[in-house]
Order: sequence, then structure tokens, then C-alpha cells
Amino acid sequence: MLEINHLKKYFGELEVLKDISMSVEEGEVVSIIGPSGSGKSTLLRCATMLETMNGGDLLYGGTAAVKNGTYANKEQLAKIKEFYGLVFQNFNLFPHYSVMKNLIDAPVHVQKRSKGEVMEEAKQLLEDVGLADKADAYPCQLSGGQQQRVAIARALAMHPQMLFFDEPTSALDPELTTEVLKILRQLAEKKMTMVIVTHEIDFARAVSDRVIFMADGYIVEEGAPADVIDNPRNPRTQAFLRKVQ
Ligand code: ADP
Ligand code: MG
Repeated sequence: MLEINHLKKYFGELEVLKDISMSVEEGEVVSIIGPSGSGKSTLLRCATMLETMNGGDLLYGGTAAVKNGTYANKEQLAKIKEFYGLVFQNFNLFPHYSVMKNLIDAPVHVQKRSKGEVMEEAKQLLEDVGLADKADAYPCQLSGGQQQRVAIARALAMHPQMLFFDEPTSALDPELTTEVLKILRQLAEKKMTMVIVTHEIDFARAVSDRVIFMADGYIVEEGAPADVIDNPRNPRTQAFLRKVQ
């Protein structure tokens, strides 16, 4: 589904991502853990083309968005962007749109799908995330956990092949975290392909097929949760996990 080869990213003089290579298979759930400032968000932002990468390749379903640091043309990129969805830390809902309008806006106006069909589907998605009764509410009337569940439903309304999450629960109180993680678990059970940056180590252990530990712009260690989380080999992984668990 996703292949990244030798990704490099600079902010000015600062090299933030140093030769990152990773891939994600269909149906796989990959968690990315690591200290603050290690480059996790920048990696997701490069992978989803919110940031420009300075070198390397980025491929979705075998199609190159970036080859050797050179981007494909606008039309090709627009097509590739339909492949994935992204859910942020701070929900990023449109505050002046109702929940329903947040869900249907892009499928109707960007993807040009029929409004009736999209609305039917949006109702089902809201039911799936436990918010069937909130279609007419505005984001400010919802709790953080509810807003994040709307954000997940909104991403799903675009029919992505895979989803990226950047610390989807870090802005939430513990009791609201649980309801969001439950939705992610359900998506994992349905074999949604997902890349999740998270500080929730127990969740990462339970839900991931693979865990990537990043530090200082490198992938330091990668493997099954039973190895990386419960039996880390690298001293930096060991030190990080001692601190957060
Ligand atoms: P993480 O998500 O792991 O906490 P980030 O990817 O946010 O790490 O940041 C990695 C490094 O890149 C940090 O040193 C951060 O200060 C720097 N950085 C992130 N975004 C920018 C930016 N837009 N401009 C300059 N430096 C940035
Ligand atoms: Mg981050």
C-alpha cells in the first residue's frame, strides 16, 4: 500500500528525517512511537504530502508520488491523494459546519459523488462511531472524544485505502481516549490499513501488527509488538519505554 525509500527532510539547516525507509502492507496496522521531536509528525506530513520531502521515494499502491525527490505532476498527485486519509491530534473539524456537513462536504464537492448517497453513507458512519444522534450538532457542542470520532468518520467518508493518525488521543482526557481507541480497534478488526503515531503503548501493543520506534529522525527499531515493546533490543528503545510505561 505504502512504500517510502530513503526519505530525507530538512527544515532549513535542520535535518529532521534522515534516510527513512518503511512500507505498509494491505490490512496492516503499524504504530509509530518515539520521543517528542523525533520526527514522527514530520514523517506523517511528508507521507501525506502536507510537507515537501527533500529526497527519496514515496509510492502508494506501487504508483510513485515522489521518485528520487521529484514529485509527479499535479493531476497524478491529486489522484494519489485520494488513496489515504489523515486524522490529526486536534480534530480539525470545520467549526461553522454541522457534523453532517463536515462529513459530506468533500465527498460531494471534491469527489463529485451524489449527495443523497453520500448522506446515507454518512448516517451509517456516524452510527458506526456511536454518534447517530449528532448529525445536526456543531463541533463546539461536542466533547473532544466526540469531535475526534466525527473526524474519523469524516476521513472514512472519502473511502480511503488507508488512514494515518497523528496522536489521535493526545488532546483528550483519559475517559475520552478510551472511546476513540475503541473506534480504532474496530477499524483494525475490519482490516483497515492504518499508520498510527501514538503515546498509548498498551494500545499499540494490542492493536498493531508492527511497531516502529523513531528517535532523532531515524527508525531505530521495528518489529512485532512482542519484540519492540516487550523485548526491545536497542538501548534507546529500552530507555524510552522505561520512561513512558
Ligand atoms: P514529533 O512529532 O516526533 O514530536 P516533529 O516531526 O513534530 O516530531 O518534529 C521533529 C523536529 O522537526 C523537531 O525538532 C521540530 O522542532 C522540527 N520541526 C517540525 N516542524 C517544523 C517546521 N515547520 N519548521 C521548523 N522545524 C520544524
Ligand atoms: Mg508529533
